[in-house]
Amino acid sequence: MKIVADLHVHSRFAMACSEAINPKSMAETAKEKGINVLGTGDILHPEWLKEVEKNTVSEGNGLYALKGSDNKTAFVPSVEVSTIFEGRDKGIKKIHNCILLPSLESAKELSERLSKYGSMNSDGRPQLQISAAHLVDIAKEVDKKAFIFPAHLWTPYFGALGAMSGFDSIKEAYEDREKDIRAYESGLSSDPKMNWRISELDKYTLISNSDMHSLANMGRETNVLDLEELSYDSIIKAIVDRDAERFKLTVEYYPEEGKYHYDGHRECGYSVNPEENKSTVCKVCGKKLVIGVLHRVDDLADRPVGYVPKVHIPYIHSVPLIEVISYAKKKTRYTQEVKTLYSKLIERFGDEMDVLTKAKISDISEIAGEEIAECIDNVRNDRIKIRPGYSGVFGELDLLGREPEPKSRANQQKSMKDFFSG
Ligand SMILES: [Zn+2]
Ligand SMILES: [Zn+2]
Repeated sequence: MKIVADLHVHSRFAMACSEAINPKSMAETAKEKGINVLGTGDILHPEWLKEVEKNTVSEGNGLYALKGSDNKTAFVPSVEVSTIFEGRDKGIKKIHNCILLPSLESAKELSERLSKYGSMNSDGRPQLQISAAHLVDIAKEVDKKAFIFPAHLWTPYFGALGAMSGFDSIKEAYEDREKDIRAYESGLSSDPKMNWRISELDKYTLISNSDMHSLANMGRETNVLDLEELSYDSIIKAIVDRDAERFKLTVEYYPEEGKYHYDGHRECGYSVNPEENKSTVCKVCGKKLVIGVLHRVDDLADRPVGYVPKVHIPYIHSVPLIEVISYAKKKTRYTQEVKTLYSKLIERFGDEMDVLTKAKISDISEIAGEEIAECIDNVRNDRIKIRPGYSGVFGELDLLGREPEPKSRANQQKSMKDFFSG
């Protein structure tokens, strides 16, 4: 059974998240996007936990389904926790960690246990005064099936290996509890090819999730699994084992589109490609640059660009359909025209994954017009350009070659066509 899983999302109880996120709207959006397994997000937040409890039923396999509905989306209790602690070098460390749990009962217990380290009520992504290692300790004590992994590993401020975090390895960040870390999240600004340059990461499974703060961003990165039966245990096993028969591929945002790919200084609109110049100061104002993911990966890399490890999970790049339509129509994703075209395509082809990977280009053209069809064909064949993101500014897509300057993407990895045909 093919499963598309997005395991790191947020509810409306996390800071800067859309008010429209609730269990029902999440399940409906997941169906549209072709996602079968979805994190609940923010499950340690008491109010959200109650809401999830009230609106879902246990499937008896560690997963939950919407109550009184034929929607089949399977929810897995999940949360992102921000840990703030003093490192061995006495510097203050802040890193983000994701936790998956096999039951809402365990979530309730973990929420209670962690409440002495910070407020569980104020932010769906609790900020706790606790070391990452101690967090793993407690989560494992509450439920030995708890699955913890570093969130968006490379982002400058809160990624365990980000430029500001001060850790150079997962072992350093999680100390003696590193033995319980079996996976990491690549984050939007890096893709597998970048991560393969670090031999230390070979022992962990790279996974990809959306970290959505609004429904539209659900599934912008996902994991595609092939499971005999769907359960919490089988999902975790597929991740830990990295068996090619079970863990098929990850769907990745183009790393250049992520908002921390290049180095830069947002206020001055200044960005720089670290492959050309590893300067750390803004050329405009002289202040320190925010060191992006490309730079940071290169600093820690012990392998050349382009290295491919023997054991690895394949991946494809994709662009969310709403972004494709918005680009083609030169209108924001919030306009009625963009929303209507999105709905028409979903209605015709079933779900977003099918539109992006399987639908015939000529059929797409008939429903949504030539430009959108051409954009999708270009994404499938990796024929697009991107002006890379930096310092919190998202990268800009050029799907139709409208602009002359952005850096062209050569065919650097397998394209969608290699995985989805017909
Ligand atoms: Zn985070
Ligand atoms: Zn500046």
